[in-house]
Amino acid sequence: PETHQILRQTCRDYADRELMPIAAKLDKEHSYPAKQVTELGAMGVMAMEVSEELGGAGMDYLAYSLAMEEISRGCASTGVVVSANNSLYIGPILKFGTEEQKRQWITPFTSGEKVGCFALSEPGNGSDAGAASTTACQEGDEWVLNGTKAWITNSWDASATVVFATTDKKLKHKGISAFLIPMPHPGLSLGKKEDKLGIRASSTANIILEDCRIPLSNMLGPRGAGFKIAMQTLDSGRIGIAAQALGIAQASLDCAADYAHKRSAFGAPISKLQAIQFKLADMAVAIESARLLTWKAALLRDSKKPFTKEAAMAKLAASEAATFCSHQAIQVLGGMGYVSDMPAERHYRDARITEIYEGTSEIQRLVIAGQLLKQYQS
Ligand SMILES: Cc1cc2nc3c(=O)[nH]c(=O)nc-3n(C[C@H](O)[C@H](O)[C@H](O)COP(=O)(O)OP(=O)(O)OC[C@H]3O[C@@H](n4cnc5c(N)ncnc54)[C@H](O)[C@@H]3O)c2cc1C
Repeated sequence: PETHQILRQTCRDYADRELMPIAAKLDKEHSYPAKQVTELGAMGVMAMEVSEELGGAGMDYLAYSLAMEEISRGCASTGVVVSANNSLYIGPILKFGTEEQKRQWITPFTSGEKVGCFALSEPGNGSDAGAASTTACQEGDEWVLNGTKAWITNSWDASATVVFATTDKKLKHKGISAFLIPMPHPGLSLGKKEDKLGIRASSTANIILEDCRIPLSNMLGPRGAGFKIAMQTLDSGRIGIAAQALGIAQASLDCAADYAHKRSAFGAPISKLQAIQFKLADMAVAIESARLLTWKAALLRDSKKPFTKEAAMAKLAASEAATFCSHQAIQVLGGMGYVSDMPAERHYRDARITEIYEGTSEIQRLVIAGQLLKQYQS
């Protein structure tokens, strides 16, 4: 539709004009792109699926994935800030929150002035999210939370978080519930900022909860529904990460193809060499196929059809495309691929995380196989 084309072009222009020129600096200085996030908020990109009434753009997941790809093509760190706010923080509140919770916890997070985060992983468990050891105990009219959440994107810049904690350990994953905590808040502290390989302009840190007290009304969804909320949130989030990976892969191809025209070896541009042409062709195929999978997953979600398998396929294909393309781009650039004068080395570092967070590539394969085998049972 025309609205999607306009949005894609607007985000593309913004990425070229405002993100690409500063991405290397943000990466080097590990600095949060506050100004850009506010500008993206004004464009509706920080709350794509939220209704206009609640302050969002009122668009769909296809629109979100188009925006995410373009933003991440310009700056993958900014991409993950956008993704964590849209899919991980706002997403579960939009789906499971009461009307009052939506007004309180979503509307202030639509403009980019405030961002949220999502705290599921712990030092002792990432892939095995059902093994959460953070506890939430009811004391009078409050929940009291204790435990440590690990690797939390946006944590240093966030004004609220969705936290998963167990209200009944005996019930294992069925004892996990979701909670909303403002930040800063007494009893909640942050660990050191992780010194990461890539996406260095986004903050990642532990969230430490020590007798952190919140009102009973800060529970999100029913008691014991936390694991379901987390898994459904990640199903959707994976479409956003697939789009982030596509942006990194596309930026790698753009950089490599442009350089191949400009660089000469043995008396002719290296773009005339078949060995280089084949690399560019393989990159383009990986990107285009992953893009179609991403759009398919988004369209299924938008038409309210099951999309768990397709979202996992999209995330797996796009993250592997990003790793592959960023690797090949360095090869096409030769020595210039290895230094920070050119963006290829940053793309290579940024790509790597897309195969790890919101479920590793191994976990995506487990999800795909699980869904696939179910289809053969009936
Ligand atoms: C930069 C960054 C940002 C992040 N942001 C967030 C965030 O905002 N919120 C949040 O909650 N978490 C976040 N995470 C955590 C991330 O989701 C986890 O790191 C990820 O899920 C993997 O968990 P783990 O690191 O504990 O690895 P582990 O689960 O210990 O896995 C180690 C290895 O074992 C493999 N493995 C594990 N189980 C299986 C299995 N059953 N079958 C096959 N292989 C398996 C994994 O694929 C991996 O290769 C972030 C992580 C990073 C690095």
